[in-house]
Amino acid sequence: MGAPTTPATTGTPPRPIPGVHPASRALTRPRRRLVAAAAALVALAAVGTGSLLDLRTPAPKPADAPADAFSAGRAYEDVQVIAARSHVAGSPANEQVRAHLEQQLRGLGLETEVQDTVAPEAGQLSGAAGGATVARVRNVVARLPGTDSTGRVFLVSHYDSVQTGPGGNDDAAGTSTILEVARALTTGPRPRNDIVFVLTDAEEACLCGAAAFAASHPLAADGGVVLNLEARGSTGPVIMFETSRNNAKLVDIFGRAAPHPVGTSFAVEIYRALPNDTDFTAFLDQKFVGLNSAYIDGGAIYHTPLDTPAAMDRGSLQQHGDNALGLAREFGGIDLTDLRSGHDATYFPVPGGLVRYPGWLTLPLALLAVALVAALGWLTRRSGRASNGRLAAGFALALVPIVAAPVAAQLLWLAITTIRPGYAELLDPYRPLWYRLAVLALATAILFTWYALTRRRIGPAALAVGGLAWLALLGVLLAVAVPGGAYLTTLPALAGALGGLVALRTRQTGPWPVVAVTAAAAVGVVILLPTVVLLFPALGMAMGGVAALVAVLLGLVALPVVDLLHPQAGGQRGLLALRARRLAVLPAGATAVAAVVLAGVGLGVDRFDAAHPAPTHLMYAMDAGTGQARWLSHESDPQPWTDGYVDGVTDVGDDFPGLGDAELRAGPAQAANLPAPKLEVVSDATVGGERTLRLRLTPQRVARIATLHVDTSTATVLRAEVAGRSVPVEPRDGRWGFGLVFHAPPAEGIEVTLTVRPIAGQVALRAMDASDGLDALPGFRPRPPAVGVVGSHSSEMLAVARTYPL
Ligand SMILES: [Zn+2]
Repeated sequence: MGAPTTPATTGTPPRPIPGVHPASRALTRPRRRLVAAAAALVALAAVGTGSLLDLRTPAPKPADAPADAFSAGRAYEDVQVIAARSHVAGSPANEQVRAHLEQQLRGLGLETEVQDTVAPEAGQLSGAAGGATVARVRNVVARLPGTDSTGRVFLVSHYDSVQTGPGGNDDAAGTSTILEVARALTTGPRPRNDIVFVLTDAEEACLCGAAAFAASHPLAADGGVVLNLEARGSTGPVIMFETSRNNAKLVDIFGRAAPHPVGTSFAVEIYRALPNDTDFTAFLDQKFVGLNSAYIDGGAIYHTPLDTPAAMDRGSLQQHGDNALGLAREFGGIDLTDLRSGHDATYFPVPGGLVRYPGWLTLPLALLAVALVAALGWLTRRSGRASNGRLAAGFALALVPIVAAPVAAQLLWLAITTIRPGYAELLDPYRPLWYRLAVLALATAILFTWYALTRRRIGPAALAVGGLAWLALLGVLLAVAVPGGAYLTTLPALAGALGGLVALRTRQTGPWPVVAVTAAAAVGVVILLPTVVLLFPALGMAMGGVAALVAVLLGLVALPVVDLLHPQAGGQRGLLALRARRLAVLPAGATAVAAVVLAGVGLGVDRFDAAHPAPTHLMYAMDAGTGQARWLSHESDPQPWTDGYVDGVTDVGDDFPGLGDAELRAGPAQAANLPAPKLEVVSDATVGGERTLRLRLTPQRVARIATLHVDTSTATVLRAEVAGRSVPVEPRDGRWGFGLVFHAPPAEGIEVTLTVRPIAGQVALRAMDASDGLDALPGFRPRPPAVGVVGSHSSEMLAVARTYPL
């Protein structure tokens, strides 16, 4: 991109000065240039605002909304009942929640039942560190029979919460959404297809409820379409972030039938890289297809006591419901026999809808972008706007901000967490806005500084082509490695190259060059600005560098517009040139100052206080055999409150294999008056060197976990059964080479059958149970107001273990 090297107004022969952007070619007079810059920026700001407004959640509908509509006001009444308190799987509080769900669904006249069973986790996912994981689950399942069913639509959410919080959003949001969707559906004519409402148990523990439903419930036998509803925060748009494979038809229906379709094929790729799992995982096999949706902003409260109904953004709830109801009606009415396509779709949100195109276009489009950028470079050189050398330098130097911005963003966050170490335990700060803006200002400052330093020497045209070249090449790389994300750089590169070509070929004195590069930058804004905004909550500030990277890519696409902010390149001499250079430093300086100020405001605004406490992790473990007790914590750099309990790092794997994590911070604790879980021998028979032990493991408190481990130096485990169901015998590291983790154990205990080959004499077994009740322990000091509980599956846990030689 460039313009003739000599201003047309002078009659002198061409001089070899760095390429002038065509957009600024006709704008040698500073005022006209300024007007063009202002117009272009206003246009981009309008496009950007439109894109961001499109991500807003709908207004929550009141409780007296029409009966066939989804009302967040009505759904919220269920949220308050479900999330009145913590209701972990197996707890009395969860029994009450289940009773409420049954009553609500039966009240709608739906066939409702409870699937009560013992089930292993889906795959080998969450609890695998402690051993083979099993739970007693009670799923609430209701069916709205179709008139002429071609298949089944499953609306799925989990009704259990973590033990550390009431689950106001996670997942009372999904559960109450399903109740309200069921209500709305029963007001109209019956759908063509069966609609099944599946409220699962023990998702938080091991996805065991969903696994049990998918594997063994009669209604699941023929598979179907699964719509899973989740929340991993308290606010923000509902994002459809995961699909089954070969999703093109499903995505098309989503774009058509969801009233507020926010989703991107890039999210699927990101989600695969994150250590999260939902019930949807249990349905990801040949029988089922489906979509997984969640809102994820406000992640600071995730899995903490602060995840209360009051914390919920009812706009997010309304969006969950509008989309779920729209999709349930659509899937309820169409032929479900063939929803799998031959390919995945690329899709992303734009104002007014969801753009989608087949995944097989990804690589051809990426190669086309490379070809067009190459053509632009060739034309730029031929028109004399940049030499080969400058083009090469522009390409090489454009890599500098692409690398520097993410690195700087990570360093900024390192500095902020050094000042405020409590952030290390949070998914995202409570009020992350200022930090997010600081990262964006920092990325902009780096781009502007880089531009001010390179522009005079290399020239705007060569730098613009160099930036687009990186976007096009990244597009090819993504198309091969992460196809769902390739559109992020391919489409802006295509638009930038086309804009540049138009700018080169149109009359240089008219407005068209500015219009062309502004339109190209607008494509970049529409695609990349929502990405930046959605990436922050998705990855948290600890990975703010990714958002900074995308912001810089957006800046590179908009470089010709950015150039208009600078005085005309190459035209000035003497004092004018000096003034021009000084002016060029202005945007860089202003954004750098903004970055520092915004980070400072963030630190000032987002202080820890009673409503936004610093998260801490503490648990208690006692060996009932020796009477030795310990406080334990996951915190790598303990907060002052936790410091009062723990000091050095200890390996607890030998004493508490059921905890899964061997390395924890530990400190001495008073022994509490707590009995160990009882292990009784029901029968004991040895045949042909194989000893079969039938055992009953009974927790002595209301426990949420019971575990049983075998010292594999005393016996080799050949087979294992829990509640009559065989579990995989997979070796673990360490002394306790075989382990079994049972969530939500019933009060009457669990029957375990072990078939072992004894090595020498007695077999050593270690039993552990874990419950809540940390605050009743001797020596526990309540947390001060500004100290809170970290969102984790093990905080506040109280474990008692004992070895049984048999
Ligand atoms: Zn959860």
